[in-house]
Amino acid sequence: MMKPTITYKEVKRPVDNMCANGHLCSEYYRRNGPHSPQEAMRFFSITGEGLPKGIYCEPCLVIANHLARVKEKK
Ligand SMILES: [Zn+2]
Repeated sequence: MMKPTITYKEVKRPVDNMCANGHLCSEYYRRNGPHSPQEAMRFFSITGEGLPKGIYCEPCLVIANHLARVKEKK
């Protein structure tokens, strides 16, 4: 098993509320699906292969993690 190719650490909400993925971030995130309670959105600074550096919101981090795993399987 290879290690994930991206690393991340939790950071403060960006002042302009922009995710590095190019969208405005909402304040809350339903972490466990559409019917789960709203929780404060978390933000992460990501460094990884094939990803622009920057601060990503939590849902984008989940997607990036998933993509990194898919890439490793090839
Ligand atoms: Zn995002």
